[in-house]
Amino acid sequence: RSKERSGTYYHFFESDMSNRNLESIKLENALYKALDNDELVIYYQPQIDSKTNQLIGAEALLRWMHPTEGMISPVDFIPVAEETGLIIPIGKWVLKNACRQLKEWHAAGHTSLSISVNLSGRQFEEDNLVSMVRDIIKEYEITPENLHIELTENQLIRNTEVTIKKMKQLKKLGVKIAIDDFGTGYSSLGYLKNFPIDALKIDRSFVQDIEHDSDNAAITDTIITLAQNLKLNVIAEGVETQEQLDFLMSKDCYIMQGFFFSRPIEAKDLANKYLYSNSNTLH
Ligand code: C2E
Ligand code: MG
Ligand code: MG
Ligand code: MG
Repeated sequence: RSKERSGTYYHFFESDMSNRNLESIKLENALYKALDNDELVIYYQPQIDSKTNQLIGAEALLRWMHPTEGMISPVDFIPVAEETGLIIPIGKWVLKNACRQLKEWHAAGHTSLSISVNLSGRQFEEDNLVSMVRDIIKEYEITPENLHIELTENQLIRNTEVTIKKMKQLKKLGVKIAIDDFGTGYSSLGYLKNFPIDALKIDRSFVQDIEHDSDNAAITDTIITLAQNLKLNVIAEGVETQEQLDFLMSKDCYIMQGFFFSRPIEAKDLANKYLYSNSNTLH
């Protein structure tokens, strides 16, 4: 398995090593082994419907439990994974395991829960992206509507035509698509018309300080109105305070993600916190 993977994805020997620093090469080497050594773990951050205070789903967020360095943030290793192509096997692994987790929650009776998975633009460059998603949905008997794919604005505009085509194919499967970190990218609003999307996620940099920063409040308000007018769902990320929650609800935004409700946590902790209390308990 390792050999096959190294043949396909591990290209750094071919690239110009002189302008790469040793640290990044060490990181690549270690990341290359991380998948095979079971060092990658998915944490789940609850998504809450603030009208009912119910759990409606979770976002799968990758963590790397490095044997000596401890937990490494995806912010530090996803870019390396994208550069080296390792994001392809890693991304597939995340999608599979998130869907396996969703199947488990559904089997325990929590059949309305959804799972959000972040995909890299790099994954959209692969010919088999759509068939991979289709196969995984089938393998884990996922209701496609319960799989929500997140793609950032900047990833979207990498390779527009190919990306739109694949997004449309994914939509045909029934999968939902959200634009992540909305408002932080470099694209024009016009693209909202062309991309087959279902939801906008307000970046947490805008939600931050909404109580005191009138610019952030205005931007957040505008994104919510934009989503409503385009008949898209809107999700707020990075909700940390009651005041932020109140502001968002007063603008008719009700899907919440943030430390105010919960940090990203292990699947078993999510089950303990949100699912055990129901009649259908998980094991
Ligand atoms: P994202 O998709 O925008 O995920 C939201 C990030 O905001 C997460 O950081 C989450 O822990 C953090 N967050 C959520 N609520 C709060 C809050 O109330 N306060 C603060 N300060 N932060 C909050 P995380 O887990 O470090 O992930 C960072 C980014 O890494 C993600 O941003 C996503 O772009 C990327 N990422 C994570 N997992 C994957 C993956 O499996 N595949 C890909 N391609 N990217 C991933
Ligand atoms: Mg995300
Ligand atoms: Mg985000
Ligand atoms: Mg973000």
